[in-house]
Amino acid sequence: MVVAITETGLPLFVLGREADPRSEPGVSCPGVLPPASDPALVERARAAKERLGERLFILGHHYQRDEVIQFADVTGDSFKLAREAAARPEAEYIVFCGVHFMAESADILTSDFQKVVLPDLNAGCSMADMATFTQVEECWDLLEDIGIADHVVPITYMNSSADIKAFVGRHGGAVCTSSNAKRALEWAFQQGEQVLFLPDQHLGRNTAVLQLGLSLDDCVVYDPRRPDGGVTPERLRKAKMILWKGHCSVHGRFTAECVDDVRRRVPDVNVLVHPECRHEVVTKADYVGSTEYIIKTVQEAPPGSAWAIGTELNLVNRLAQTNPDKRVMFLDRTVCYCSTMNRIDMPHLVWALESLVEGKVVNQITVDPETTHWAKVALDRMLALP
Ligand code: SF4
Repeated sequence: MVVAITETGLPLFVLGREADPRSEPGVSCPGVLPPASDPALVERARAAKERLGERLFILGHHYQRDEVIQFADVTGDSFKLAREAAARPEAEYIVFCGVHFMAESADILTSDFQKVVLPDLNAGCSMADMATFTQVEECWDLLEDIGIADHVVPITYMNSSADIKAFVGRHGGAVCTSSNAKRALEWAFQQGEQVLFLPDQHLGRNTAVLQLGLSLDDCVVYDPRRPDGGVTPERLRKAKMILWKGHCSVHGRFTAECVDDVRRRVPDVNVLVHPECRHEVVTKADYVGSTEYIIKTVQEAPPGSAWAIGTELNLVNRLAQTNPDKRVMFLDRTVCYCSTMNRIDMPHLVWALESLVEGKVVNQITVDPETTHWAKVALDRMLALP
């Protein structure tokens, strides 16, 4: 069970998932925030950071706003950041500028002495929310009932709650990231005959079809909102990949038309997308890869080249600023930020840092020992992948 502790010790209001407290929680932010209009916010954050010195380590996910990322001691994707936190045992406070499941992973990988703080507890992840613990248990019960659970290996994307990672660890599975999904699936097919892939159907399908050579017919989608997942037992038995019906609300917005449109408008454009995008987008793109891959590809591209990028807008804007010798543009014509990532803003960061200076640990994210143990089993299996 995952608990968010407030300074008041009062139980927190769980948004959207009140019937299932073991899901990825989004909860209200307690305390009085400084107004966003306060011109001293940057100075206040700087002063608080200085006061906390070595005791503080700030992590900034690539999708964070510029105003926040300027205070990060390290930037990266979710897994890199969790490992960076674990590599700083002297830091008592880990302030995670990212979303809830990332802060959980940091708490799982750090020592008991270290306290992980999420400046706004409403910063959840819609994709992680799409696989609740109860739903995943129901799905597994169904797989047991139809006699296939013994040879199904569950794999969960990093973007899932600690409870789902622990579920996967308990049932012989592993965590994966967008960088190592292929290796995780190859490993899973050595352990069993079928894979239950959580919670991002697109990453699962794209990896299985484009990297492992499976067919679209080998994949079936399990919809947790429909009776028996909306799929027949026969289909479940036949499928190699059972894909959970979840997706990223940011990457899921890009369409095949976006790719056609940018190719019409920009001659010689290179289309570079994240594997959380839909299959028809990924198959039309020139390059596909994780956030770190996207950054490296643009950095190493020749001057004058044009890049249409299908990932979160804060990162695309930053790539455009830091690569002025290239034409870097957003793949879609409409603006598309991750709304929950954007919840971490200067007022929340200042509030969290100043509270720490006063000795108050606010918005601490803790994962209970049992969940930590099994989630770590799943994470360690990923780390041991060849
Ligand atoms: S970009 Fe998508 S996967 Fe990442 S935190 Fe936002 S909703 Fe979740």
